[in-house]
Amino acid sequence: MELLDFDDDLPDEILAESKIDSPEAEESITRLIKALGEDPEREGLQNTPRRIARMYSELLAGYNVDPVAMVNGALFDVKYDEMVIVRDIEFYSLCEHHMLPFMGRVHVAYIPDGKVLGISKIPRVVDMYARRLQVQERMTRQIADFLRDLLKPQGVAVVVEALHLCMMMRGVQKHDARMITSAMHGAFRANLATREEFLANISRGAAPLQI
Ligand SMILES: [Zn+2]
Repeated sequence: MELLDFDDDLPDEILAESKIDSPEAEESITRLIKALGEDPEREGLQNTPRRIARMYSELLAGYNVDPVAMVNGALFDVKYDEMVIVRDIEFYSLCEHHMLPFMGRVHVAYIPDGKVLGISKIPRVVDMYARRLQVQERMTRQIADFLRDLLKPQGVAVVVEALHLCMMMRGVQKHDARMITSAMHGAFRANLATREEFLANISRGAAPLQI
């Protein structure tokens, strides 16, 4: 058995499903370390390329999720037609411009029209889109569009609040600036009272974003 400390707990399925070309990723990371003026052979860096390649299999696992299989068995026919809200879904993503993390919370609401999705699946939908190279605006829209297409609800709304390390560590270095994006369909777009009910709900008792 190889005694390498990867600091991870990656299940074999994630590594097996990953579309990442690990040898190629490892070589590229070794080259990057050299290009940055560091010595890839020094002790602390020796396993870094393998560690990073494994890490991307985890951080970018959203590309490999089959959405049909994911929601399979969790779609239910119900007569309920009040707003369903799942708030404060924690997420971590990587901005595609810098490949630095952005992270925060997603709030999802929909008004069913005959179909609901098992509640544990909504965070899985968020993860499927977060664990990719992303921009926050597109991630927000993809989550909303996916739920609209899947559930054909009377309306769906998604709000994402996030902190971007590329804004905090570099560039403008605004530590507390958070970005808020939203996507609304159906009743949430057409009906001000519906939209306000959702927005009032998610602002109630909201904890500040922190890292
Ligand atoms: Zn960025």
